[in-house]
Amino acid sequence: MEDNMERHERSYPVRRRRKRKPKWQRMLHKYWPTIRFGLLCLILIAVIILAISAISGGKRLSGTEETRDNSIVDSGTESSISNDEIMALANSLIKKADFIAAGYDYQKAIDMLRSFEHFDSVPALADKVAEYERLDSQLIPYAQMNNITHIFFHSLIVDPARAFDGEHTEDGYNQYMTTCDEFWAMMEEMHKRGFVLVTPYDVAYEQTDEFGTRFVYGEIRLPEGKQPFIMSQDDLNYYGYMVGGESGVDETPIFANTKGDGFAHRIVIGEDGYPTCLYMDAQGNVTTGDYDLVPLLEKFIQEHPDFAYHGARAVLGMTGYEGVFGYRTKPSYEKALGSEKYKEEVEAAKEVAQCLRDHGWILASHSYGHPAYGNISASRVEADSDKWESTVQPIIGDTDIILYPHGSDINGPGKYTFSNAKFKALYEDGYRYFFNVDANVYWSQLGENYYRGGRRNLDGYRMWYHPQKLADLFVVEAIFDKSRPTPVAPI
Ligand SMILES: [Zn+2]
Repeated sequence: MEDNMERHERSYPVRRRRKRKPKWQRMLHKYWPTIRFGLLCLILIAVIILAISAISGGKRLSGTEETRDNSIVDSGTESSISNDEIMALANSLIKKADFIAAGYDYQKAIDMLRSFEHFDSVPALADKVAEYERLDSQLIPYAQMNNITHIFFHSLIVDPARAFDGEHTEDGYNQYMTTCDEFWAMMEEMHKRGFVLVTPYDVAYEQTDEFGTRFVYGEIRLPEGKQPFIMSQDDLNYYGYMVGGESGVDETPIFANTKGDGFAHRIVIGEDGYPTCLYMDAQGNVTTGDYDLVPLLEKFIQEHPDFAYHGARAVLGMTGYEGVFGYRTKPSYEKALGSEKYKEEVEAAKEVAQCLRDHGWILASHSYGHPAYGNISASRVEADSDKWESTVQPIIGDTDIILYPHGSDINGPGKYTFSNAKFKALYEDGYRYFFNVDANVYWSQLGENYYRGGRRNLDGYRMWYHPQKLADLFVVEAIFDKSRPTPVAPI
């Protein structure tokens, strides 16, 4: 429960890599509930004393009867605020609280209303609190925590005519990618069917108590009939081959140009402060808009706040070999770009990373160089992870989630143990959440010290070859983009 309360804030403090917390921190963590309870008591007492002194001073008006002069004078200050102003503030607060409550975070919505300094002057606020309490009492803890489906995507195709243009990349896009229109239609249908987006941190997390430290399932409370799901996106890098006609894998960065294949080429921060995308069309015109999963899902949740549990967003996985989010931040590009321009790329990418985090997105590793971890030696896994840590982590921040490249897991279906050198290396690098690719509706494993799960690719390949395996989510026939070449090439 304590951990749940913290996750309502949707900020994810991630453990420091390779270092165990010092003892005082562990003690603090252990006794934090007690300390917090003590602090809350102190605050409560302070509030009561203040309230009593205000009432006995007789200066503060309370209730609604005394407000006929249309103004309320704050005790101890000269500032005054009219009833109309209070009502306007209260109404905008209710709007915000309603949005949060729609995501089933009723406690946060209630706290928000109660913290309003004129709470007692607006009866509608108390009515709202009562309504949220009633709705909250109707939520049920989701019973099948081991059966939470996880879907994933690559960069979405904005312009199918450019992606499916007969070039050598066409088959890959048709197999592994999803179009923007398909994505939107999938979200609409999943929303209709009662799916609610949660994060891996809602599903399972590390807990320390008197019995020690271990991974446990979280508690996800939803109305009856709703079911949680996790979403992730791989390769949020906008590689050169997708946006500029060739790969920038060596020391030459490739930026967006008219040879692009119809994908967004950068995440940027929009005028409204939300993350959005840049797109260059075949004529070279660049526009800002909903050209990939991040802005599309953001828009969808703004329209359907009940689609995101406690403000959840998707997990985004980045490699390092061409930079992140479309910024050419790979260190070996510095020579070609010049240190000034290179620094700009890095700074811009850092700002985007912060913006994404601020809006609830979770940033993860998709490895540095995209090797299949299952097929390479433990020392190569370790080297790749170290390279990610030295080149990507400084830009996007620390993470404890890895989305395996090619979905290639480091172990069979049995549990991870430290006798697996790859697991040992990744665990020591701070990873606790491991996701492969699996066609089954559900596949997950709660270890003593990790959570591991399968992910379903909702792409052209899966839709064409296994539509029945997606039947719980949507009817493929209603989703499949008619502009795709068929048959989708076999893998
Ligand atoms: Zn990938």
